[in-house]
Amino acid sequence: MAAAFQGRLAGSKGMDGSPLRGHGTQIASNARPAQESCSRRMAAARRRMGLSGKPKRLSCSRCGADAVIFRDYEGMALCRKHFLMSVEKKVKKVVGKHGMLQKGDRIGVALSGGKDSAAALYLMKQIIGRRRDMEIVALSIDEGIRGSRDLALKKSKQLCRKLGIRQYVFSYKKELGSTLDQKVRKLGLGMNDVCGLCGVSRRWILNKKARELGLTKICFGMNLNDEAESIMMNYVRGDIPRASRLGPVTEYSTKKEGGAMFIPRIKPLRWIPEKEVELYARLSGLPFRPKECKYRGGLRVDVEKALDMLEKKHVGLMFTVVSTFDRMLPGIRNSVHYDGQAIMECKMCGEPGSHEVCKACELWRK
Ligand code: SF4
Repeated sequence: MAAAFQGRLAGSKGMDGSPLRGHGTQIASNARPAQESCSRRMAAARRRMGLSGKPKRLSCSRCGADAVIFRDYEGMALCRKHFLMSVEKKVKKVVGKHGMLQKGDRIGVALSGGKDSAAALYLMKQIIGRRRDMEIVALSIDEGIRGSRDLALKKSKQLCRKLGIRQYVFSYKKELGSTLDQKVRKLGLGMNDVCGLCGVSRRWILNKKARELGLTKICFGMNLNDEAESIMMNYVRGDIPRASRLGPVTEYSTKKEGGAMFIPRIKPLRWIPEKEVELYARLSGLPFRPKECKYRGGLRVDVEKALDMLEKKHVGLMFTVVSTFDRMLPGIRNSVHYDGQAIMECKMCGEPGSHEVCKACELWRK
């Protein structure tokens, strides 16, 4: 065990130098590209283990090779090989446990060009392998965000070429009438409101197009941090219907109500912390956009900061948030049905939603 702590660990910076969100993992200095030097968290971990003095290189707890990561929440350091194997094993386990893939599935992976969706596409491709009874395609959205979208789309195209996966690109301009930039200007939205509009619009397009393409599932690259944030956001907003649509697989989606239908959503990376998803994508040589979107803001960012702060003090807290929610989910879904908040067909576009007019129509027909 002591070997696990004999490392000089890096701080929490992403490829672009922006801070990464915490979840009880430290990236080792020997991970490429080189990271910041020894953090306070590593020093605290060493103190907890009763180790003192200058730390040496980090060794893999499995094989003794140079480690690329130390997982506080498991008390384990892993080399490149064992880290990649561990992530792949965890993802396969989640896919199997929740029955995310079935014979005949046509999976559309929502590919934004970021690290999470790149890793999700790569891992799903690996899991499906050469099976002929399943198909995988990538679904990308051009929101029309000047400055960041072009690079993201370029990276997503590179990845699809590399993996030999067919990519469909849909744009807000064509599907909704204007780019996100134009809509933000027209409505005079502040930084706190853009993600709400954008998220609803993207989900609307993805669901509609997936159905038109005859896809049976949409795969999202949400990581552990994203899922914990979504749970907390719905909790603080008191949005029970939306909370009922969280979880590893969306249950509503399998039902056809009022003629409309949600395509089932699956989240195979749901138990992988954000830092580990980025490290996995980097070590696997996947092309992805390192920069964040210029509009990122609103409640999610505040919840993210709060969870990061808590995770730093209480290692493993995000796992607890998600696993506790999963235990409550059946009750939440039952209560939504009892309250008569089931899925309806939007009277304007025919897409599924929780009200007579879906959120996308409400926002884009203004
Ligand atoms: Fe849309 Fe917000 Fe994501 Fe930017 S950060 S792409 S505005 S949801």
